[in-house]
Amino acid sequence: MAIKEPQVQVGILSAPQQEFVLSGVYTVGEKRVSGKQIVICSKGRLIWDGHFYEELLFEPTDPVVCSFELIGVTIGINFHWERKENQRFPGTLKLIATDRIITVINTLPIEAYLTSVISSEMSATASLELLKAHAVISRSWLLAQIQKNHQLSLSKSTYQASSETEEELIRWYDREDHTLFDVCADDHCQRYQGITRASTPMVREAIEQTRGEVLMYDGEICDARFSKCCGGAFEEFPYCWEEAEHPYLRRQRDSKQITDLPNLQVEAEAEAWIRTSPEAFCNTTDKAILSQVLNNYDQETTDFYRWTVSYSQEKLSHLIQTRSGVDYGQIIDLVPVARGTSGRLWKLKIIGTKQTRIIGKELEIRRILSNSHLYSSAFVIDKEGATPEGLPERFTLTGAGWGHGVGLCQIGAAVMGEQGYDYRTILLHYYINALIDKLYS
Ligand SMILES: [Zn+2]
Ligand SMILES: [Zn+2]
Repeated sequence: MAIKEPQVQVGILSAPQQEFVLSGVYTVGEKRVSGKQIVICSKGRLIWDGHFYEELLFEPTDPVVCSFELIGVTIGINFHWERKENQRFPGTLKLIATDRIITVINTLPIEAYLTSVISSEMSATASLELLKAHAVISRSWLLAQIQKNHQLSLSKSTYQASSETEEELIRWYDREDHTLFDVCADDHCQRYQGITRASTPMVREAIEQTRGEVLMYDGEICDARFSKCCGGAFEEFPYCWEEAEHPYLRRQRDSKQITDLPNLQVEAEAEAWIRTSPEAFCNTTDKAILSQVLNNYDQETTDFYRWTVSYSQEKLSHLIQTRSGVDYGQIIDLVPVARGTSGRLWKLKIIGTKQTRIIGKELEIRRILSNSHLYSSAFVIDKEGATPEGLPERFTLTGAGWGHGVGLCQIGAAVMGEQGYDYRTILLHYYINALIDKLYS
């Protein structure tokens, strides 16, 4: 398949007005412009240079030399370090008026976009093979996203993400698609800050060496999911999201030494697996390896291959009520109902004094049983003590892994990279029977 390198449209921000500085000469229709500009949105239209527009397109006359700086971009939204900074971007600047808001979009070649994204997502200490594996995953995800947006704009079908009855609320969460652009610049898609920060030489090398390469299966680009730590076994797609067939996202042990894997959908097998620490690539506490994939904040915890969380009766019943919006009363029991192939619960029964219900899938369980997110839903439950009413006093969850466990396990892949496996072997270990194909050169 010989195609040209595609472009990606990234939604950077939206604001009622936007200031920016053009370095080098840009064109807007016939006009040639440079330097400081301001665009204001009024009654659904843009005002720039004394004229009204629906949409404005600033195109660089020389893509190598030209760049533009957006003034006052808010970063770290809703984090304690939220602040504004100026950010610099290559490529084309597009502004669209929607109601009273301007949507600011940057269009650029996808290899340049990937260089920026991987430089800000991955640690500078990551091995070249790990960076190459990530480059292929990010590119696959991006191209699949661009393709999906084209298909969605043609069909009008809506995505169903829950099923609810009296006894059961099964819900899952996936990215919603954007309508005005392919991906946004936040963590929701992939964090993108243009060329504000320098890219590292090793990331540039990883991108160049894998240029145009994506994961394919049966003629389609793979849905290349990844998570922090699988916990020793891979989860399958339908236990986390909708009932879709992705044959390359299959149950397997995260190991090449021991390939045998117990059936973790059987409760007793899952229990034995989670309460022990079986051999797997991601079974590591090596700080140097962990620092390749965890940011500084995440590095405070290294016990995610196997972990425990403990709640008092009071804490747990309060947590479940505030997080689910349902008053279960005091908690009598948490009962595993159904597990996926990695031992992750996708159905959990909450038995309360006022209400009993089954919840799922994995992210819903993790969301309700923690103030932020429980590491994973692969856990077993121990109850201790008794309250005056004869209810358990304390619940301890013993769990495995971090994240959904589908596709590439970042910690496992980092260990494989350190052990000398090349990026192709790493990718094909996690995306079983997929192919690595070069879409363009
Ligand atoms: Zn997004
Ligand atoms: Zn793993």
